[in-house]
Amino acid sequence: MSHIAFIGLGNMGRPMAQNLLKAGLALKVFDLVPSAVQALVDSGAQAAASAQECAQGAEIVISMLPASRHVEGLYLGDEGLLSQLTPGTLVIECSTIAPESARKVAAAAKEREVRMIDAPVSGGTGGAVAGTLTFIVGGASEDLAAARPYLEHMGRNIFHAGEAGAGQVAKICNNMLLGILMAGTSEALSLGVANGLDPKVLSDIIAKSSGRNWATELYNPWPGVMPDVPASKGYAGGFGVDLMLKDLGLAAEAALHANATTPLGELARNLFSLHSAAGSGHLDFSSIVKLYERKQ
Ligand code: NAD
Repeated sequence: MSHIAFIGLGNMGRPMAQNLLKAGLALKVFDLVPSAVQALVDSGAQAAASAQECAQGAEIVISMLPASRHVEGLYLGDEGLLSQLTPGTLVIECSTIAPESARKVAAAAKEREVRMIDAPVSGGTGGAVAGTLTFIVGGASEDLAAARPYLEHMGRNIFHAGEAGAGQVAKICNNMLLGILMAGTSEALSLGVANGLDPKVLSDIIAKSSGRNWATELYNPWPGVMPDVPASKGYAGGFGVDLMLKDLGLAAEAALHANATTPLGELARNLFSLHSAAGSGHLDFSSIVKLYERKQ
């Protein structure tokens, strides 16, 4: 059987690829960072020296890259992967990118008779490690059906949002809400602490009350409240502030495109933008709580 090509082995791609290896599938991997490739080789994958070499002869290509420009750079143009993939190859593009960009790459794939779905994910690095991600898919039903057995090794919930690009639209709506909720949770915890409450006690109360949300249940932004989340590890790993900022920018673009109104999304974008400009772009996005720190 031919191999799966997996390109982009960062915070999300690495554990996703590892789950495919655990399922006994043959993987060839590539990332611009050699140590990221080595980590997968240590888990049983074959290394490729370039994206082109990685995809050569692959039946399935999976990519997990930072943003639209990386995805367009990988697939389009004279050197792009679409110019070398054989007709019938299935591309599962998991990055969070602009819907327009996903549609553009999907249209180019269709011209070359390459099957492509956009399959951005939700669930964070914890979900990627545990194999419990939610996949939000745009593309043809039959291509999703072909991808499903592979997605099931990496995730638990698989939704078909609609045609090419629809997965990205749904993902952007979800992440705009996530950015708002993380900023709101940080604000509420900071208010409680400023008024003398223990952040752990307040978090336990909110987690069982009407303000509960993904941040209070699984990804608390206050250091030491939850073990094994980025907040308790110096905000290392996880989902970067600059990636959240990118998603809030995509939401703003989508709002402009459709003449929709997103005042809270815009406010969250500005908060994350200030936080990034203060030098925190590389930290996990739950570090937004630091924006509320009071200088004594
Ligand atoms: P990351 O920055 O940790 O990893 C991206 C990887 O892609 C890096 O290792 C980088 O070297 C590699 N890369 C970039 N261009 C490349 C190229 N041309 N060829 C090969 N490798 C290349 O990012 P991440 O946190 O893994 O996120 C990846 C995507 O998933 C983003 O679109 C992000 O928005 C989305 N996402 C992330 C999370 C999260 O919690 N981290 C959750 C859901 C969705």
